[in-house]
Amino acid sequence: MDGAQLRLKFWGVRGSTPTPQIENLKFGGNTACVEVRTAANECIILDGGSGLRALGQTLLQESAGEPINTRIFLTHFHWDHIQGIPFFSPMYLPRNHVQFYSGSTGRPLQETLEGQMSKPYFPIDFGQVAAKRDFQQIENGGCIKADGDVYIRPFPLNHPQGASGYRIECNGVVIVYATDYEHGIPEYDNILLEYSQNADILICDAQYTPAEYETHKGWGHSTWENAVFVAREAKADHLILFHHDPNHDDQAMMRIAQNARIQFENTTAAWEGFVAAL
Ligand SMILES: [Zn+2]
Ligand SMILES: [Zn+2]
Repeated sequence: MDGAQLRLKFWGVRGSTPTPQIENLKFGGNTACVEVRTAANECIILDGGSGLRALGQTLLQESAGEPINTRIFLTHFHWDHIQGIPFFSPMYLPRNHVQFYSGSTGRPLQETLEGQMSKPYFPIDFGQVAAKRDFQQIENGGCIKADGDVYIRPFPLNHPQGASGYRIECNGVVIVYATDYEHGIPEYDNILLEYSQNADILICDAQYTPAEYETHKGWGHSTWENAVFVAREAKADHLILFHHDPNHDDQAMMRIAQNARIQFENTTAAWEGFVAAL
């Protein structure tokens, strides 16, 4: 380790559906999956989109046959946030332990994940998965403590069928993960601002351009312009645009990043493989 409290790596940045066409691959085609590695080398995973598969392969290589303990925090259960879970290879070895968490999105966590792998959607039943698995729903206002003084707090986001953002704190370092969120409802907008206060890194739903948003109201996603607004209001240090629209190729993404940087200089449009250390 390089003295960082938390290290962040993006394994999937795309929203809605994987987009593995060549014109998208500078930013990446896998759906939502972000790794947070603590100073104690614990792996905390935010969302299990298709990016989770490659992260699983890396964890297996790194572990060199030792047990893997990992926690997966799910924002919600739309496909682009869970479709990598059946392909997370550490889950198929009995020595490993995977703890699943969700906020209170109104869906039972274990049952919903089992549903994804039930007949006729997947060849292997979730009950046959060999790793030890635990499931925990965290109430709003609740908190999970991970190794090395890391605290993870969920908060509700405005999204069809509900979603949770997460604020992750470790010795004064703050990462906020707020994807699958549509702005415009004051109650939720205020919660997001409250939980994003003074974030060192704010990862924010920025699926649409302001023009595209006009025809996508109610779809549960926001704009880069709103992400900039939240970053400013919350006094965040670094804004990371996330959940890129499947129709935004690399050219479109570069334009979005440029436009956002004019308004908030320290902005990055997340790309697969991007690493940040805090
Ligand atoms: Zn999504
Ligand atoms: Zn969603």
